[in-house]
Parts: sequence; structure tokens; C-alpha cells
Amino acid sequence: MLEVEQLTRLYGDFKAVDNVSFKIKKGEIVGLLGHNGAGKTTIMKMLSGFIEANQGRIEIDGADIQKDLKQAQQNLGYLPENLPIYPEMTVADYLDYASEMKGLTGDKKITEIKRVIQATDIVPKLLSPISTLSRGYKQRVGVAQAILGDPKLLILDEPTNGLDPTQTQLIRALIRNLAKDATVILSTHIMQEVDALCNRALIIRNGQLALDTQLDDLHESNHLLLTTSLDKGMLDTLLQPLSTITGVEEVSVEGSVCRYRLEIQENGNPLELCGEVANLVVSSGATLYAIDREHMDLETLFREVNEIPAGADTAEVKDAA
Ligand code: ATP
Repeated sequence: MLEVEQLTRLYGDFKAVDNVSFKIKKGEIVGLLGHNGAGKTTIMKMLSGFIEANQGRIEIDGADIQKDLKQAQQNLGYLPENLPIYPEMTVADYLDYASEMKGLTGDKKITEIKRVIQATDIVPKLLSPISTLSRGYKQRVGVAQAILGDPKLLILDEPTNGLDPTQTQLIRALIRNLAKDATVILSTHIMQEVDALCNRALIIRNGQLALDTQLDDLHESNHLLLTTSLDKGMLDTLLQPLSTITGVEEVSVEGSVCRYRLEIQENGNPLELCGEVANLVVSSGATLYAIDREHMDLETLFREVNEIPAGADTAEVKDAA
């Protein structure tokens, strides 16, 4: 659905986006994560055709954005970070204008406007001038214009920015619903947003793609966490018969309480191994304090990726994570 190859954007001499490549399949909800200034908005502006890339290629549903901007834009809805909403217009007039900009006319236009105002719950504000709306309502008007015409690709720059918890839930539910028929790429600083909404996270750091991970893979780490009284040497010997344990890393030692991270071979069964390791530890006469599969959360991963010193190359960042 969306293919991005070696995308680069300079502002003067400064490289805001540096050689970023990724592909997104139909129906995926992908979160673009990164600190302030990482380059998320610049990537989204290029994807929507709002600004041009200095290098690289973007293809939306088979249309090359540089060669065929009009066709590519027909398939996309874009919620910019700062929406250029016209303050003097009413919500209804603005949506009418936005529909025409998208090429919608006649009955199709009316049906679409009705659909989007209901989906974003802005019916009570239809006749209000945009200048009188709260930030949250303005954001909902922005989402409404982005989904006009049922686009195949939605590019949402911080879609829940400024919304109260109820409206955040409403917009998230709407995005999940839209993703049944469309592909969604959204940017956010909020980890829980990515956890709640996305199948996949792209972490941007200093303009580069530092990590591309499926959230299911992330939650299913191939490590066990073991806490026992055994020291490292004794544990290494004890685990030797288990060939699917490929590494033992000592995490911490506090008196007789030692924590380890055990690496499991790809074909190893984590649950069975938990049982086998537990049996071995207990039969050796040592104390088993705890054993479980490691669960890596996105927040930890994000912190680890961003803790790598500046100047490290992308491969190092990926390895460290
Ligand atoms: P935020 O989360 O704060 O919105 P971001 O990840 O979206 O940040 P961008 O807005 O893409 O980051 O900015 C990336 C870098 O490019 C930043 O260092 C920013 O200062 C710089 N930048 C963005 N727009 C311009 C511009 N028009 N001229 C010069 N520099 C710019």
C-alpha cells in the first residue's frame, strides 16, 4: 500500500530525515514514534505530498508521489500537526470546502459529510465558526476532513493531541474502525497510544529509522528471566543439557538473590523451558525465587533505542535493542 525508499529531506544543511525506508501493507496501523524533533512530521509531510523529498521515492497504492501527485493524493487522507483551518468558516462550510477539494460532489458529498460528522461526534458544532471551537473540537474537525472520501491511506500527525480522555477513546475507536478498510500511519509521543492502536512501531531517531518492530514480536521475547540462589558458574553447568538455551546473562546479584536473562533458540518452546529450568534448579537443591518469560514493553525499547550515543549507526541501535 505504501512504499518508502531512501527518503531524505534537508532544511538548509540540516538533514531532518536521513535515508528512511519502509513498506506498509494494507490494513496495518503503524505508529511513528520519536522524541521532539526526531523527524516524524517531516516524514508525514513528505508522504502527503505537502513538501518534497530531496532524495528517495514514495509510492502510494502503486502511484509514485513525485510523478503522479494527484492520483496518490486521491487515495490519502492527511491530518497535519497544525491544521490550516479557516477560523471564520463554520464547521459545515469548512467540510463542504474540504469535500470539494477532494473532488466530492452532489449526493456523494452530502453522504460523506454526514458520515464524517457522525464518526467524529461534531454534530453539535456544525454551525459554529471554527475560531470558537476548543482545541479538542478543532482536532476532531481535522480528523473529519482527513477521512472524507474514505481514503485508502490515512496519515495522522498526532491524532489525539489535545483531546480529553473520552475524546481520545472515541478517536482511537474510530481509527481502529477505519483500519478495517484502510492503512493508517500515525505519529505520536504517547507509547500507550501505539500499544493501544498499532500493530507495528517505527522508531525515528535523529531523522533515521532506528527500529521497525511488530508489536506482537516485541511482547513475545525469546528470553526467560530467572531469579535463583545459584551463582553464574553453577547455573551454566546446570543448564548445559538444555541445548535450546543459547546464552545466560547475569543481570544482577544481591546477596544470594541472582537474576539472569536466558536466551532461547528460535525453535525453543519458552513455556516448556520454564518448566525444565525450574525442575533443574529445584532438584539441585538451590532456591528458585522466580522464573517467567521476558515481556519487553515499548516504553523500555524506546528508552533503550534513544539511550544509544548520538553518532552510533542504525545497525548498532537495532542490535542494542
Ligand atoms: P515534534 O514531535 O516536536 O513535532 P518531529 O519528530 O515531528 O518533532 P520535525 O518537525 O519533523 O520533528 O522536525 C525535524 C527537525 O527538522 C527538527 O530539528 C526541526 O527543528 C527541523 N525542522 C522542521 N521544519 C523545519 C523548517 N521548516 N526549517 C528548518 N528546520 C526545520
